[in-house]
Amino acid sequence: MTAESQHILPKDIFQTIFEKSPGSLLIKADIPRFTILAASDSYLEFTDTTRDAILGRGFSEVFPDSGNVDEHIKAHNVFIRVVNTGEKIDIPRYRYDIFNQQNNCYEEHHWSCSNVPIKGDDGEIAYILNTVVDITAEVKAKEIALENEKRLNLALEATGLATWELNLIDSTFSYSAGMAELFGLSPRTLPTIDILRSQITEEDMRNIILPSYHQALISGEYLYEVKVVWPDKSQHWIRTQGAIIFDDHNNPETMLGTILDITESKRDEIRKNDFIAMASHELKTPLTSLKAYIQLLAKKLNNNDDEFIANALTKAGNQVNKMANLIYGFLDLSRLESGKLQIKMQDFDINKLIAENIIETQLTNNSHKIIFNADGAIMVYADRERIGQVLNNFLSNAVKYSPKDSTISITTKTCDNEIKVSVSDNGIGIKLKDQEKLFQRFYRVDNDEIKNISGFGIGLYLASEIIQRHKGKIWVNSEENKGSTFSFSLPIE
Ligand code: ADP
Repeated sequence: MTAESQHILPKDIFQTIFEKSPGSLLIKADIPRFTILAASDSYLEFTDTTRDAILGRGFSEVFPDSGNVDEHIKAHNVFIRVVNTGEKIDIPRYRYDIFNQQNNCYEEHHWSCSNVPIKGDDGEIAYILNTVVDITAEVKAKEIALENEKRLNLALEATGLATWELNLIDSTFSYSAGMAELFGLSPRTLPTIDILRSQITEEDMRNIILPSYHQALISGEYLYEVKVVWPDKSQHWIRTQGAIIFDDHNNPETMLGTILDITESKRDEIRKNDFIAMASHELKTPLTSLKAYIQLLAKKLNNNDDEFIANALTKAGNQVNKMANLIYGFLDLSRLESGKLQIKMQDFDINKLIAENIIETQLTNNSHKIIFNADGAIMVYADRERIGQVLNNFLSNAVKYSPKDSTISITTKTCDNEIKVSVSDNGIGIKLKDQEKLFQRFYRVDNDEIKNISGFGIGLYLASEIIQRHKGKIWVNSEENKGSTFSFSLPIE
């Protein structure tokens, strides 16, 4: 035995290797019959056949192409090309339906095939090695993904939503159809992110988009509404909602989200705000005169001891004050919405402000016991009038939403770099699900007890905006039927 022949494997070992190889079929290059010479076990399994049924028979005889297969990928034509060109030909995707005896129907299968020419001793192409990989599962998954994408696009189209994705590493930006129209551009254009950004005002970029991006780096989520200026100079509004995706090292990787045109609802809101601003402005003048007349009458009454008139005037004064508070609330609301709510910072003693507020509350309403143990002066740098407004809201709510003669307590506490002020009552309390929404505009708890108590749900919204403008925090702790504690904190030096 020569050294070389020691390395030659016996023929039956080759046969076994072939039979165990994945999806292989050996075909003789005998145009046009293409006789099947060998088949691997997995090939037989894919095609649901047996060696006895196919060996020695022509390929097309046992595996006929289905009628609707493209000519250039029909097995017979491909084999002829392999023999004639001597080149390997791949068919990345080929559909082959197999009859399922059990279900008595054809089942759709997809294969990826490769056809390799093999030369005989005379140098001519003598065989074709046909290998197949069953890719049915991948094809099906892709079809489902495409179908889902189609549905999503239909839904996006129907709702006027567009989706977008920004890769924060390489800055690639992609989006769904409909994005151009949201920016007033022709649907045929493919605007870049810079073009879209150039249509957002610098002010919104600075005051809304950048802060919400920085916020999203912490929370992972963002939601903002900004103005978009279309090429024809008309103003529109969009709402963007989405998330930031972080990599394993917590570095931001991708930003993605949806954009919705909210111009109509924004215009309605602007109209409503304009109306509120105009109405409350117009109401202010007659109310101021009414207040002045009541004060004048009260002064004149000093010379008169008619108890009924004195009583009626006090009540009228209280009602006018209530109305004035409401109207000023609405005015503040419209100032806030139009970005005109001003904060005038100054140094003052917050304990003194609280004491003044308590006196004022008790002047108009002596129905509750208010406890406040001030421990010296606590100086803060804030807008005295606005912080007074927040305190007044907390106090008047505590009075409104707790029983007559119950106790309201106020505490102030300084710790680290902040001062915390809390107003606690023993009133009706608030359910957990409502607590998160209390600071939203016009939110009022919907229950029978509250229905009979007047209010518009703007006090806490204004309070939260005021505290936010002071870079402070506002929150509530409450238990239904036990009571509530409303608190805010302000940074101090
Ligand atoms: P308003 O009192 O005018 O409705 P606010 O914005 O001040 O508006 O308060 C919003 C809602 O929060 C109230 O309608 C009420 O449901 C709830 N609320 C506020 N303060 C209290 C409190 N101390 N106890 C119970 N519920 C309260």
